[in-house]
Order: sequence, then C-alpha cells, then structure tokens
Amino acid sequence: MRPKVTIVGSINMDLLTSTDQFPSQGETIRGTDFQTAPGGKGANQAVAAARLGADVQMIGCVGADSFGEELKGHLKNESVDTTHIQTIEHEPSGLANIILSEKDNRIIIIPGANGHVTPEYVEARKDAILSSDYVVIQFEIPKQTIEYCIDLCHQHDIPLIINPAPAMELDTSYWEKATYITPNDTEASQLFSDEMHHLNEKLIITMGAEGVQFSENLEEKMVSSHEVEVVDTTGAGDTFNGALAVALAEKLDLKEAIAFANAAAALSITKLGAQQGMPTKKEVFELLT
Ligand code: ADP
Repeated sequence: MRPKVTIVGSINMDLLTSTDQFPSQGETIRGTDFQTAPGGKGANQAVAAARLGADVQMIGCVGADSFGEELKGHLKNESVDTTHIQTIEHEPSGLANIILSEKDNRIIIIPGANGHVTPEYVEARKDAILSSDYVVIQFEIPKQTIEYCIDLCHQHDIPLIINPAPAMELDTSYWEKATYITPNDTEASQLFSDEMHHLNEKLIITMGAEGVQFSENLEEKMVSSHEVEVVDTTGAGDTFNGALAVALAEKLDLKEAIAFANAAAALSITKLGAQQGMPTKKEVFELLT
C-alpha cells in the first residue's frame, strides 16, 4: 500500500531573472537570462513525496492566470492529486520574483492565491486530511490556517510535520501539538530558545552541508550529510520534508526516516531547479547502499 501524504501549502511560479548587475534606482538594464520554474514550498514538498512513491494530495490554491493552469497541470504530471486545488478568480497565482546575479540574489514573493488557503478552505476539504497517514504544512499560507491544521491533526491523531519556513512565531501550545518540527538551523535559532527544551524530541533541525540534528531518548543525535556535487541547493529543505513524511508514513523508525530524507535532499542539490533534481525512491536507496 502506498502511504497517503497530504500537503497543505503554497504553490508558486518562480520567475528567475539573471543579470550581471542589479539596476540602480530608476535605471533600466539588460539582463542575461530568464526562466520560469514551478515552486512554492508546498508544491515542492508534494512533488518530492510523489516521486518517492507516496499517494500525495495537495491542498492549495492557484490564480486564474496562465501560471495557475500550468502549475496545476505540472503537479498532475508529477502524479500529485490536484482535486483539492482551487483556481481563485481575480487573484494572481503565487509568484516568486527571483533576481540572480553572481554576487547576490534578491527575491520578492507575491502570495496571491495562496492567501485564499483559509481555515474554511481547509475545513471544506478536511476528509483529505483525516484520511492521511501523514500531513505536512509550511508557513507560506495564512497563520490562522496553520493553527487550524495543527488543531485538526492533533484532535484526530493524524501525524503532522510542521516545517516552520519562512520562520514565524507560534504560540507554544501549537508547537507542542506537532509530531515533528523541521526548521533549518537559522529558523531553529529564531524560533526555539533553550527554555523550550521540552520540544527537543520533536525538533529535527536541518543544517545544510552538516546534515541533520535530532533528539531521541533524551540524547542529541546527528545524521551527517552525503558528499555530493552541489549544483543548486534550492528546494533541499523541501525535498527533505517531503521525503521525511513518506518515510515516517511507511513506519521507518526516526533515525532511518531522517537518513532517507537526508539522502533524498542530497540528491536534489545535484541538479538545477527546486523540483527537477528531486529523486525517485530507487535513486535514494542506491545512495544509501
Ligand atoms: P533549507 O534548504 O531549508 O535551508 P538546509 O540547507 O538545511 O535546508 O538543507 C536541507 C537538507 O538538505 C540538509 O539537512 C541536508 O540533508 C541536505 N543538504 C543541504 N545542503 C547540502 C550539501 N551541501 N551537501 C549535502 N546535503 C545537503
């Protein structure tokens, strides 16, 4: 049986503009390249989990523009169930305007249709959540929706990964209801202080090239990263979260599940783009053996 993973979150089009230098105020310059690529943390995690063999449902919204159609079609092609993705009239699809130069990246995010993923929107689709083996949420949708999903999963004993990215404070009572919380090291230092050590057994902290830190039986543990050729680290964290949900839904023990997700994330950075490099289960097992 394929595990059932539900992702509640953002769906964006990434607009990647490359330039040798940034324009100064009022200036127009000629850039060097332009590409669009499907993204958004929620959609990235959905694709990661689907490539790894899970039965994935995405709960989210796109805009009534050409990007919306394309984003939904793309998820379908990746075998993600798009039944619970609604197209919102008079809203743009979520966008990330990413300006890349040798020295620096500058990003402007437009939430657009992602702002319509409200508690009511999720409530109307709660059967999808209640029939899941694992649920994953991230923080590119409204805060009330995040709180609603946490309460819903907690009340019904549905395992939940909270990926607190981008970082946003929540009342401690919400963190306590998560099965696991997966910040990167920057988010962890922004959100979790030493006084919150009662959350240690829930925290799985991704530390880039250093690997992953977690606690088990009151002991701090580390899974080291794989040495791979780094081409593009965009989406490494999303691959990690999608893969972790699949592995935990398949009832791997915590350390094995983290090792699986760590390997999937390592493979994802060997190719350009957030989603293009996401591996299949076979590729992950090859790296692990
Ligand atoms: P985010 O992309 O959210 O900032 P991280 O940078 O912590 O998250 O990366 C997530 C995971 O991806 C890491 O825990 C690790 O498993 C893997 N990873 C990231 N960078 C590298 C790297 N340079 N080499 C190998 N694995 C990496």
